Amino acid sequence: MHRLMTAMAVCALCLVGVQAQAALRVVTTTPDLAALTRAVGGSHVDVYAIAKGSQDPHYVAAKPSYVRKVNRAQLLIYNGLELEVAWLPLLIQGARNRAITPGSAGLLDASLAVEKLEVPEGGVDRSQGDIHPQGNPHYLLDPRNGALVAGSVVERLRQLDPQHADDYDAALARFTSDLAQRTEEWEQRLSGAGPVSLIAFHRTWSYLAEWAGVHVANYIEEKPGIPAGPRHLVRLVDQMQAEGIRTVVLAHYNPTRSGKSLADRGKADLLVLPASVDAFDDVQEYVDLFERIVSALEAVRSGKP
Ligand SMILES: [Zn+2]
Repeated sequence: MHRLMTAMAVCALCLVGVQAQAALRVVTTTPDLAALTRAVGGSHVDVYAIAKGSQDPHYVAAKPSYVRKVNRAQLLIYNGLELEVAWLPLLIQGARNRAITPGSAGLLDASLAVEKLEVPEGGVDRSQGDIHPQGNPHYLLDPRNGALVAGSVVERLRQLDPQHADDYDAALARFTSDLAQRTEEWEQRLSGAGPVSLIAFHRTWSYLAEWAGVHVANYIEEKPGIPAGPRHLVRLVDQMQAEGIRTVVLAHYNPTRSGKSLADRGKADLLVLPASVDAFDDVQEYVDLFERIVSALEAVRSGKP
């Protein structure tokens, strides 16, 4: 009996030990948010991204396995601005997890940290099925916004796991200092050549364009989420000829057919850029995303995409 009691006591201590060391279970909606959270959370967080790098985050299937992940999450970080509106509410509803109810520390809308672009005047605009009704949600394609979001993630990690607050602060300082230095280098490289004007598939690049000094002249989609009709494509070809636009750009997850057809008809190059972390094998960290994009834009500017 005595031995049994001792064994039980030792076991209880083990459990306490395991619990104290267990990493905080974080679920993010996108691989970008996961990369930022891992960068500042280190070994204190166990991060799972729902949307994979190959997926357009506007369109993700709400699978039961994701409901289980959200059910166990201690922190759910989402992009916001309705990027995930087609699938995240279903996952949250199915998960019945009190830790992530609105207003609780376990739920973080990352968009609150950044200044938004393309916010419709007069409030939310859902006319004609527009999937950016509250403004453009692709804000992590400006590296300066990555630093802001990492800061808001750390604020929340400190709140949920105060024991490791110093580690989170130190990791954030390292991450933002490295990112600022890289951002300066990228800006120098981007300023080294003439302007780039292009046609994009979707309004993926608004933040990137503003940061990188790129001009997106028009879009293959007539409105975000609305495919182009034949007349719109004819107008785009005319515009490309009139304005000398030589590049059509797609995000890696965009369908290629209309982009390729437009590039052929407009005698332009088709450029496929990574729009998220995990888009390609060599784009696994947040900084990799911009390294790849900046290199591609440099090539466009030198006439060799
Ligand atoms: Zn979008």
